[in-house]
Amino acid sequence: MSKGNIGVTSDNIFPVIKKFLYSDHEIFLRELISNAVDATTKLKVISRQPGVASMPMDDLRVRVSIDKKKKTLTVSDHGIGMTAEEVDKYINQIAFSGAEEFLNQYKDKAEAIIGHFGLGFYSAFMVSKKVEIFSLSYQEDAKAVHWSCEGSPEYTMEETIKAERGTDIVLHIDDEFSQYLEDATIEGLLKKYCKFLPVEIAFGKKKEWKDGKEVELDEENIINDTNPAWTRKPSELKDEDYDKFYHELYPMQMDEPLFHIHLNVDYPFNLTGILYFPKIKSNLDVHRNKIQLYCNQVYVTDEVENIVPEYLTLLHGVIDSPDIPLNVSRSYLQSDNNVKKISGYITKKVADKLAELYKADKDDFAKKWDDIKMFIQFGMLTDEKFYEKATGFALYKNLDGKYATLDEYMDQVRENQVDKDGNMVLLYTNDPDAHYTYIERAKAKGYDVLLMDGELDVHCMSQAEQKHEKLRFVRIDSDTIENLIRKEETAKDSYSDEQKEGLRKAFEGQLPSDADKLRYTVTCEAAAADALPVFLTQNEFMRRMKEMSAHQQGMNFYGNLPDSYNLVLNTNHPLIQELVGKETSEQVNEEVEKDGKKETVVKTVCKLEGEDEKIKQLIDIALLASGQLKGEALAKFVNRSVELL
Ligand code: ADP
Repeated sequence: MSKGNIGVTSDNIFPVIKKFLYSDHEIFLRELISNAVDATTKLKVISRQPGVASMPMDDLRVRVSIDKKKKTLTVSDHGIGMTAEEVDKYINQIAFSGAEEFLNQYKDKAEAIIGHFGLGFYSAFMVSKKVEIFSLSYQEDAKAVHWSCEGSPEYTMEETIKAERGTDIVLHIDDEFSQYLEDATIEGLLKKYCKFLPVEIAFGKKKEWKDGKEVELDEENIINDTNPAWTRKPSELKDEDYDKFYHELYPMQMDEPLFHIHLNVDYPFNLTGILYFPKIKSNLDVHRNKIQLYCNQVYVTDEVENIVPEYLTLLHGVIDSPDIPLNVSRSYLQSDNNVKKISGYITKKVADKLAELYKADKDDFAKKWDDIKMFIQFGMLTDEKFYEKATGFALYKNLDGKYATLDEYMDQVRENQVDKDGNMVLLYTNDPDAHYTYIERAKAKGYDVLLMDGELDVHCMSQAEQKHEKLRFVRIDSDTIENLIRKEETAKDSYSDEQKEGLRKAFEGQLPSDADKLRYTVTCEAAAADALPVFLTQNEFMRRMKEMSAHQQGMNFYGNLPDSYNLVLNTNHPLIQELVGKETSEQVNEEVEKDGKKETVVKTVCKLEGEDEKIKQLIDIALLASGQLKGEALAKFVNRSVELL
């Protein structure tokens, strides 16, 4: 038996492992099993080499077992094993320099320490008061070795007897970590970290329900799928296989994914994976199933925020790359060149796949559009490169349920919807029921109307306008139909300014009393004779600023403004003309200053009196037509209508 001191430059290593790594202590199991899997994979490689004597290869399972009486947790493999020299070299000499400095720097970042210095094995001391290694190397005439250490720099090492090749790591679990002696805890951790490891991991026996009781079968309980879909060739897989794997990844997910992208790169970095497009209906259910990150089939994390672009975190699936520096801090990840390249590659791959799907079957793509729209719009708004590609497949939907890309759509409406200044005007509604009368009028003019009721639509319209100089989106209720797309000089009426002013004043006097929350500006316009006599419009710019400020910080100025509407009096309508006819006019003297001298001028003032009820009724009709007449005001309107009849 030999004794010695572990070759760490500092005695501090064990307290550090125990205390500072505390928050992540469960990863010890992942580390030990990864080592066992590595040892097994190495053995497979060696056994295939020419000149190597044949070895028993029939049982290569890694086994995890609990002994409750002895309070031990054991990880056993039939891999290459270690000779005494190898234990000395790989376990005893954790010969790293500058350890103390590093430990001080990364005190609270457990994963950083573990990964950086290959402390994988030593993480066992996070939960154990004593750790033993029993190992028999695959090498001919090798002698088995027993190593033991009680969480101090002292260890013992001696020859032992071990029948089977491979390594057993025995953890004597600390009393305060007794949860790691519970089957359920260990099974949970194995399912989390080991679900897709390339070597079978066995934990206990399979169980079955029989006559209301759970009974153990003879068969071992295998935790993992050693050949997950992402490690296979796309040509070997059918759509069903991808769907099946999706449910393996997310057992709680009922919906089928819409489609998938199989990632496979080996230059300039290594990356495989499968990304799925889930049905995304709202922001709410997006983050339930996250993309999982693996490193050579070992689960690492589902916190991929800095590794894939933000909008891609809406996707589901797996990414596996040995090239992502997994064990370093998050801020380091963001600036890492490999990570940047990976993220750019994924963006490109996703965009290419979407373009391909759109090209292959436009109708099918259109059917899926409503479900993937949010993801694509989010990508376009946050990633310039993605935007450029996405213009080829981002769709707009009109009120007839027809879909087209922006370019396709602009071609369709070009003939009818370009104004006198050469601007393409695209009309839209976010609420077809509320805008019914406006939509009918637009249709009568032969205009097309888009449905823009998505959470990100307003932002996307603004983005499209920035990219296309002569493009405007205008909501259907933002002006008179004549003014929405101004074709030539608008029609005029034959009334004097004084008459219109009299009319305006009369209407202003009857505006609804909640006018401080809603601000109305009364204007006269010569709209079509068959348009409503009075109607509301809402300035596109102001309304959109208000809508966008609801989602964005720093735009509170707009958010705090009252909703403002134009109440338009249609001077071409017979009812308005009748009212103008009832105006009285008088001459008044008014003093004005001209060139520093006071002068008296005679002015004409028009007045409309005794028509209050009719004016109220007309205003209410306008409010009703745009869905704003509610509650008491609506009741009053109904009563007044009956009386008038
Ligand atoms: P890392 O795995 O990052 O190299 P570890 O501390 O986990 O660091 O392990 C150190 C070395 O010990 C491994 O590289 C390997 O050579 C050896 N080792 C650990 N566990 C086993 C095992 N179960 N079988 C064979 N060799 C092992």
